[in-house]
Amino acid sequence: MTPTAPVFDIQRFSLHDGPGIRSLVFLKGCSLRCPWCQNPESQDHVPVVAFYRDRCGEYLECEAACEDSAILHGSFRIDQAKCTLCGRCVAACPSSALRLIGEAHTPEQLMEKLRPDVPYFVSSGGGVTFTGGEPLLHPHFLDRVIDLCRAESIHTNVETAGVFSFDRWEAILRKLDLIYFDLKLMDPEQHAEHLGDGYETIRRNALALAEKEHPVEFRMPVIPGFTDTRANIDAVAALLQRVHKAGIHLLAYHDMGEAKIDIIQGSQPRLGLARLSWQRLAEAQDSFRERGIEILNDA
Ligand code: SF4
Ligand code: SF4
Repeated sequence: MTPTAPVFDIQRFSLHDGPGIRSLVFLKGCSLRCPWCQNPESQDHVPVVAFYRDRCGEYLECEAACEDSAILHGSFRIDQAKCTLCGRCVAACPSSALRLIGEAHTPEQLMEKLRPDVPYFVSSGGGVTFTGGEPLLHPHFLDRVIDLCRAESIHTNVETAGVFSFDRWEAILRKLDLIYFDLKLMDPEQHAEHLGDGYETIRRNALALAEKEHPVEFRMPVIPGFTDTRANIDAVAALLQRVHKAGIHLLAYHDMGEAKIDIIQGSQPRLGLARLSWQRLAEAQDSFRERGIEILNDA
């Protein structure tokens, strides 16, 4: 059977997610529940119809199109319990106020969408970056897409939160040109409190990837008061030193994810933090440098 995966976005011309110009493929589904998640619409595996209230002109073409009586009048448009994800309301809306997030794609359908980008990859040394969500929750799909990319000499990168079965999927990881691996909270209790399960798996996979010489680079989101504490930076630096990695990418927190919670009627908590200041980012960079770790994405 042809594997499929829910793709919730394809963003082009990224310069931050690997070498050169990149197309980012966002896959839905994640094992973690980071309260600072910038893509809360990615967390659940199942697709969802999102509602952008500010675009809605109350024409209610959606109501006429819906055969399942799933259109609500009010602050949110979709009754998720009745919605069958048929997409008729999305097609009927003249204001693009509705969007089906997480449409199933086969590897071949995805490649058709990526193929026009190949000239940019060739001219810049770029390629495709799979992100999410957690791309490794779709291993069979990913395996096939990576094969298709390799057949066309397209560079591939995966951004992972680290919760996957290394032994089962190492053969897929082996085919990648690059792996961006996120390190977040290094204390098991804090991890459990804020992110959920997966602490031991992440740690084990980080060590295994480095020890088996996969092309892995580590990243840390800088979340004020969570990941940028002295103790956490010490622990991240110690892990990097243990696996003989001299550098890290630091990702500055921004609060755009919180605005997305409403469009999917999500229940994720809101941190209420302002985006990371340049000063606080610089402090985190200095803290790593003081511990002998280079900042790989220093502008
Ligand atoms: S996706 Fe289909 S079932 Fe769901 S609200 Fe839209 S028209 Fe109704
Ligand atoms: S690992 Fe990434 S996608 Fe998953 S919840 Fe955390 S920030 Fe969101």
